[in-house]
Amino acid sequence: MRRACVIGWPVEHSRSPLIHNYWLRRYGVDGSYDKEAVRPEHVAGFLKSLTVRGYVGCNVTLPHKEAAFAAAAETDDAARAVGVANTLWLDGSRLCATNTDTYGFMAHLNLTAPGWETRDKPVCILGAGGAARAIVYGFLQAGVGEIRVFNRTRARAEELAKQFGARVKVHDWGEREAQSRDAAVLVNTTSIGLNGAGSLEIDLTGFNADCVVSDIVYVPLETELLAGAKARGLRTVDGLGMLLHQAVPGFEKWFGVRPEVTDALRQMLVADIAGPKQC
Ligand code: NDP
Repeated sequence: MRRACVIGWPVEHSRSPLIHNYWLRRYGVDGSYDKEAVRPEHVAGFLKSLTVRGYVGCNVTLPHKEAAFAAAAETDDAARAVGVANTLWLDGSRLCATNTDTYGFMAHLNLTAPGWETRDKPVCILGAGGAARAIVYGFLQAGVGEIRVFNRTRARAEELAKQFGARVKVHDWGEREAQSRDAAVLVNTTSIGLNGAGSLEIDLTGFNADCVVSDIVYVPLETELLAGAKARGLRTVDGLGMLLHQAVPGFEKWFGVRPEVTDALRQMLVADIAGPKQC
């Protein structure tokens, strides 16, 4: 029996067990996926003892993603681009790490809004945190010519741009509406809108009619940004798809089956999000 888990502090809110246990049942895999609450001061020790604890790997959630990256003996390009890891596995005794957020976001975007690709219109990103880094990397890999980044703390956006090079341009947070009207894709990667808190204060009137609007916040499933985009007839991409697709590579590494993101799985998560647990 192969065992994996998600580590975090706290970890109770994680929806990863719902996803992986669904796939374990669906594919009849002899395996398990648990939650492990690990205090920050115990992360390095926990990861060193994965084998002893009977695990073949794990997911990593807040606040352990940096520590997981640092603990890995081997990191791939995706993990190095983002600087944090969310998926770990053992190759013999070597701890390997990746970051699957780039894959999760791009896979969902490609499936939900095919034809979004563009070389002559910019992609606009709100936010410059860890998720923004993963998504900027994805768009660069996809060949986008110009990525505009808007962040409340401009210095953080400038650091991101420095890492990724000349195709990434930094704009003031206050320009987010005016400088995104010609966007091919607009993505909110800030935590604004999470649990309905705050507003991005963007009026989508006058946006390019082909603009795809994406929000990686998935609680609520339809954020204010997505509702506004739908009301104007723009294509939308929600954050739940990213969460589901980012889980695929880990499941395949640990359990040897490449799982499918199906509508039934999505509906299970939608029901959970609509339920009493709102985080
Ligand atoms: P970080 O803490 O690294 O970044 C947070 C970002 O939000 C920063 O750019 C920050 O700006 C901005 N921000 C926060 N509050 C405000 C505000 N009041 N006004 C303007 N900007 C604000 O977080 P992550 O990048 O890891 O995650 C961001 C969001 O994405 C979270 O809600 C998370 O749940 C979600 N997420 C969803 C995933 C999915 O699978 N769907 C995967 C990963 C994350 P500043 O730099 O100025 O502080």
